[in-house]
Amino acid sequence: MKKHLNELAIFGGVPTFPEKLHVGRPNIGSKQVLLQRINDILDSKWLTNNGQFVQAFEQHIASLVGVKHCIATCNATTGLEIAIRACELTGEVIIPSFTFVATAHALKWVGIEPVFCDVDPDTHNIDPRKIESLITDKTTAIIGVHLWGRGCDVEALEDIAKRYKLKLLFDAAHAFGCSHQQKMIGNFGDVEVFSFNATKFCNSFEGGAIVTNNSELADKIRYMKNFGFSDYDCVDFIGTNGKMSEVSAAMGLTSLESIEDFINTNRENYHQYLQELSNIPGVNLISYDKAEKCNYQYVIVEIDESITRINRDIIHQILWAENILTRRYFYPGCHQMKPLRSRIADMGLMLTNTRRLASRVLALPTGTAIGAKEISNIGQIIRLAATGGNTINEMLYQNVLRAS
Ligand SMILES: *Cc1c(COP(=O)(O)O)cnc(C)c1O
Repeated sequence: MKKHLNELAIFGGVPTFPEKLHVGRPNIGSKQVLLQRINDILDSKWLTNNGQFVQAFEQHIASLVGVKHCIATCNATTGLEIAIRACELTGEVIIPSFTFVATAHALKWVGIEPVFCDVDPDTHNIDPRKIESLITDKTTAIIGVHLWGRGCDVEALEDIAKRYKLKLLFDAAHAFGCSHQQKMIGNFGDVEVFSFNATKFCNSFEGGAIVTNNSELADKIRYMKNFGFSDYDCVDFIGTNGKMSEVSAAMGLTSLESIEDFINTNRENYHQYLQELSNIPGVNLISYDKAEKCNYQYVIVEIDESITRINRDIIHQILWAENILTRRYFYPGCHQMKPLRSRIADMGLMLTNTRRLASRVLALPTGTAIGAKEISNIGQIIRLAATGGNTINEMLYQNVLRAS
């Protein structure tokens, strides 16, 4: 247990963990059940193209979310592209700048300009009050992102979408199993998209799911994810290959069967982190509304450098030296990524809250791959680092001097 700054690995001490602790280490359900299913798939000789496991996976999601239609896809990014095409979006689409880059890429990939809107500093979600000034005659939609699984201000977004006749979509990659105003996420806007990538708390190796209550749209999406085929020899739409394979669906189904365990573990981890990190000035864990369903898949701290006297990046470096591989999600913000710095993206100068959050947020390891002992150690190291303030900066400075 580290009690002194000079025991930190960054100052020559031994890393606290001999093995690396990653953010987004996969949760794995019953290996036995999965292997049996893979065996069945091989025996059945039906490996992909809407097989029994994909159908079962889709039904399981639809019933868990309480949504009419679920279409499984090979990943969420392709799912977003298909949803964007199916909704016939063109021109410009307003999205938050504080999100994973895939939200913006999905638009660019189909020739649409993402217009970045700032986020609310408290919720980290797109700020509806800043949307209207970004709407032009080319705007066709808003895509909200339920960041960290916390629902967007859906009502305000619906109101704007209705008044300006825009489509409303949600990147719900973080929000599977979460609710907003007591209603399951997956039922909002025209369409929502979940991710089942291995880094998400519930996974199908790679995978995604498009959900909607609009039957006409659902049919179109089903065709589009299968090359646009509406029947044998009949193509009605430009399509792509967005299908999920049977092995992925088997993994997805197996994950879904353990979803309660994953969420319980995440919730316990979150509450332990809350305790371990309590009363550290300038270090705040984001909160989740107890009245809502939540998957607790992200443990996010905000570090206020004006109080800790040491910035997020140094704390991040200190943790990495201890083999705690925290992530600076979503630094530096989509609007700063080379291929997305367009004329419109230059509005980035106005994205004050995005810039501030991108410099303060740190995602900590959680999930079934981490235990109480690890969390306790991580908490102590963060406490040591964050309260070491100027002394750490001075020690690092001395290290640099020695090295040069
Ligand atoms: C993970 C993620 C995606 C992409 O999901 P894939 O299934 O990996 O394509 C999109 N948006 C957000 C916000 C994500 O976190």
